[in-house]
Amino acid sequence: MLEEKKPSKISLEDLGEFALIEQLTKSATTALPSTLHGIGDDAAVLKHEGEMVVSTDMLVEGVHFDLGYMPLKHLGYKAVVVNLSDIYAMGAQATQVLVSIAVSNRFTLEAVEELYSGIHLACKTYDVDLVGGDTTSSKQGIQLSLTVVGIAPKTGAIKRSGANEKDLLVVSGDLGAAYMGLQVLARENEVFKANPNHKPDLDPYTYLVERQLKPEARKDIVTLLEALEVTPTSMIDISDGLSSEILHLCKQSEVGCRLYEEKIPLDPQFIAVCEEFNLDSTTLALSGGEDYELLFTIKQEDFKKIKANPNLTVIGHMTSKSRGANLVTRGDEVIPLKAQGWKAF
Ligand code: ADP
Ligand code: MG
Repeated sequence: MLEEKKPSKISLEDLGEFALIEQLTKSATTALPSTLHGIGDDAAVLKHEGEMVVSTDMLVEGVHFDLGYMPLKHLGYKAVVVNLSDIYAMGAQATQVLVSIAVSNRFTLEAVEELYSGIHLACKTYDVDLVGGDTTSSKQGIQLSLTVVGIAPKTGAIKRSGANEKDLLVVSGDLGAAYMGLQVLARENEVFKANPNHKPDLDPYTYLVERQLKPEARKDIVTLLEALEVTPTSMIDISDGLSSEILHLCKQSEVGCRLYEEKIPLDPQFIAVCEEFNLDSTTLALSGGEDYELLFTIKQEDFKKIKANPNLTVIGHMTSKSRGANLVTRGDEVIPLKAQGWKAF
């Protein structure tokens, strides 16, 4: 988890927009040769060769996050990571990020600085330059909008549409833990509201809570695939849940797929807590969101290059479109995949 600083009393109204921007961006140094000019002018100046990829995402308080259990530093970190994940899902390397925030005067300078300390930490961790943004007030709460720029490999960006029949379906890491972490935090929050003296014991849930509060984007997998000389035929990141992302690949590639329940990678802590909460682990792995793992397809001949890697699991294969997108259960039943998405819960 990330360390927090103590809050102070400097109001944003007293400070003013320009002083706030200066405070927030003073530690934003740029390191990449592709950043010719960062914060401080009317626009940033970048120089990239080859295909550029650009993505943007918005986060609204009360819709995408709850400050009741999401500390501001974690929010800043996660906001960057979530955006980077989209760039890595194109097989690209993220290079620059722009951050726009709208914040109400319920927040102090130190609160917004906390948010930015998470943003700066993520930029440093993933080697991206913060090169600009916008700052404004809001009537209520915090809204964040991030834009990330990246550079695609020489062979081109990897799209959702390139999967072929017989390709293997591969996923990085493990699934479902971030959603379970949210359930744990929500339960602790309810207990805390009823009894403010309650000291939560989150020890049995460390991995799950970390997956929810401090997710990481799989830059390492993009680098790994390059090193293994494996070019995925299609790729997507898992933000809404495995089944909905598989259906995106199938639809855009015009193929079907068979996903094997027994192959879906689950962490032992996730399995244990699913039992504690009396929830079905496969359902959560399929429909719980925010895992930020990479889901991709590869040619069968590339299997030997990835099979020894503990970070990658083959969970199925693609079929003809007419066979549909199906889950093969442990009991050998074949059932159509449905896109529930995490909001369905
Ligand atoms: P303008 O009036 O031209 O929009 P601003 O005063 O909003 O300029 O911004 C000044 C500089 O600070 C610009 O380089 C802008 O990109 C940067 N900036 C403003 N707000 C943020 C922010 N929240 N995070 C990062 N950079 C920011
Ligand atoms: Mg501006």
